[in-house]
Amino acid sequence: MLKNVKFETSVFSIDKILKTNLAQIVLVGKSNVGKSSFINSLCNNKSLAKVGQTPGKTRSINYFNVNDNFYLVDLPGYGYSTMSQKEKENINKLIDKYISGNYNIKHIFFLVDIRHKPTENDKIMYDWLVNKNIPFTIIATKSDKIAKTKVDEYLMQITKTLFAKEKIIAFSAENKQNIEQIENIILNIAEKN
Ligand code: GDP
Repeated sequence: MLKNVKFETSVFSIDKILKTNLAQIVLVGKSNVGKSSFINSLCNNKSLAKVGQTPGKTRSINYFNVNDNFYLVDLPGYGYSTMSQKEKENINKLIDKYISGNYNIKHIFFLVDIRHKPTENDKIMYDWLVNKNIPFTIIATKSDKIAKTKVDEYLMQITKTLFAKEKIIAFSAENKQNIEQIENIILNIAEKN
């Protein structure tokens, strides 16, 4: 569990981003994939990040300060169907600029929903992450929603669709499946900091 985590601020545009020298661990994924729930689980605090906001309404970059050591940064969810084309483009641009900017990003968690075949947007995100020089981990969320015996099959489906070379971690904010693996990734980064 990550201790001493405080929500610090939300910003809505790239020119307002937090100026900090602290390391950042960034979360990306489509709207409603479970980013807020992921943060709350890791921090063992159900109300730290706002869960279940109307999909597409979470357009902000949210900063969570972890022990004054690093930030967990929740980027806006992409690809929600009722967003206008213009809004979708704006969010894509913001994510692109954020990850391409020089913000001391040490790791990215890329979240996809275990139940669904990755979308076109997920595929674009994956290809794009592969071409960045930042380590990343693919997390398949909501694993409690499928039978335990089916988890590997669903992970394989995601791997094939993305043509992913990396191991994908199944995760559930409900039953905390594999939370230790994710904590270890984060603690490793924090220790090197
Ligand atoms: P975000 O938009 O990516 O921040 O997604 P949220 O964390 O707000 O989650 C969207 C919806 O999925 C909410 O209703 C959550 O309760 C639900 N959810 C998120 N993670 C899980 C999970 O691991 N298991 C289950 N059963 N529901 C989840």
